[in-house]
Amino acid sequence: MAQCSCPRIGHQSLPISSLVFRQVMDEFDLIVIGAGPGGYVAAIRAAQLGLKVACVEKEAALGGTCLRVGCIPSKALLESSALYANARKSATKHGIEFEGIRLNLATMLKRKEQVVSMLTKGVESLFRKNQITSIHGQATLVSAGEVRVESATGPQSFRAKAVLVATGSHPTQLPGFPVDGQTVVTSREALSLSAVPEHLVVIGGGYIGIELGCVWNRLGAQVTIVEACDRILPQMDEELGREARKILSKQGLKLMLGRQVSELQQTGASCNVRLDSGDLLPADKVLVATGRRPNSNHLGLDALGIERDSRGAIRVDDRFQSNVAGVYAIGDVIGGAMLAHKAEEEAMAFAECLAGNRGRVNDHAIPGVVYTDPEIASVGKTEQALLESETPFTKATFPFRANGRARASHQTEGFSKFLVDQPSGSILGAHLIGAHAGELINEIALAMNSGLGVEQLSRSCHAHPTFGEVLKETALAALERPLHS
Ligand code: FAD
Repeated sequence: MAQCSCPRIGHQSLPISSLVFRQVMDEFDLIVIGAGPGGYVAAIRAAQLGLKVACVEKEAALGGTCLRVGCIPSKALLESSALYANARKSATKHGIEFEGIRLNLATMLKRKEQVVSMLTKGVESLFRKNQITSIHGQATLVSAGEVRVESATGPQSFRAKAVLVATGSHPTQLPGFPVDGQTVVTSREALSLSAVPEHLVVIGGGYIGIELGCVWNRLGAQVTIVEACDRILPQMDEELGREARKILSKQGLKLMLGRQVSELQQTGASCNVRLDSGDLLPADKVLVATGRRPNSNHLGLDALGIERDSRGAIRVDDRFQSNVAGVYAIGDVIGGAMLAHKAEEEAMAFAECLAGNRGRVNDHAIPGVVYTDPEIASVGKTEQALLESETPFTKATFPFRANGRARASHQTEGFSKFLVDQPSGSILGAHLIGAHAGELINEIALAMNSGLGVEQLSRSCHAHPTFGEVLKETALAALERPLHS
């Protein structure tokens, strides 16, 4: 758990009143580099706390990877493609028959762009509302208190008592599969393909590869996902990965597990992907989704002696300060779970600490969601991690098919699983695959964060019929008094 309570800013311990006094000497209290969910949230909270804040962003639109080319556009396409697939496949089960359903990909992509544009403009207006100075350009650190910004109008320097690096991450490269943006693409281009590929090969079975594979599979592409591990979603609980594999295979995704790609053979506009087994996979698009690396190069960090780990993640203490006083970092650039809500939590905790308040991120209660159909969601320890660390636990499960709302909605796939400490009843980990799992997991994160266990969950009245009752039933199962299974 990262936790702090520190009346510190920059090199000194100062209360906010002193900060305001010192603005005469320093142009800003805080300069944030990067306007993603880490950077823009930190800027807003710090401004709310009375600090004078500037945020530098090199892209034209604010919002970072998440709003521009990550969470939001991918979820827009997942939603649209699910509507299309359900209209074609599931609607008949509800007695609804369509004729002549057609895909208008251009309209689908345009809607996605409109969603992105609305949200990135929303961040601009939040900056105005909170009187945050927005600076457009590429930032580098000159010293602990000085940031140089290269923009179309030339270089400019800005001073601040504290600098927050929130520069995010970028897709890793795969040797032998150079990204050209046309045939070999990253998630960025895969969110904007102008035509549905006939054969899409996705390299990497993590959440980005799986989600984008689902989008294009639903829209009609033959999608093959090649994953070096023997299961998809290798970071998640094994049982979830196994169930997801079954469900996604039924949906038409071809999953090749425990296989490595070895070579790309380009043949005009299309290509073949050779596997280490010698198999050749034809592809007109290849999506490289093998992970992401922190954006910590070209920032001047080495000249300042700022320490990074072997993956390039900036090392920080429990107040998000690097080894150089006055230089802080949060979000993807410090590694850990590369998730927007983790970056936001760190942003809030950082800003509170900077202003002299208590800031806290509970690393054990950060949920992770994969927006497949059905959704997959986890929080806390996996069963494998508990076994490896020889932590005693009991396990309780409940199937979605035993939930009334799931039956009514024809969304009966999946299960909920709790890993529970005994005798305290506190939840060590929760793993769900099923309809709306991404919403349900928040209740468990709240319970874990608030010290509530299965007893309290089971006593809390859950509206009927809702998917949320799955959680109450899993809690009852953990107490060995299940009602509906
Ligand atoms: P970023 O959002 O990457 O923001 C960093 C910003 O810094 C960028 O705008 C960049 O342009 C700017 N910058 C970098 N260097 C400089 C510089 N030198 N000067 C000025 N500006 C600079 N996470 C989830 O939680 N849920 C999801 O569903 C989800 N889906 C995703 C789907 C995809 C396809 C991808 C790629 C990612 C997804 N993520 C998701 C991950 C999420 O986008 C990141 O974890 C999150 O954006 C990290 O926030 P951040 O603020 O640390 O960095």
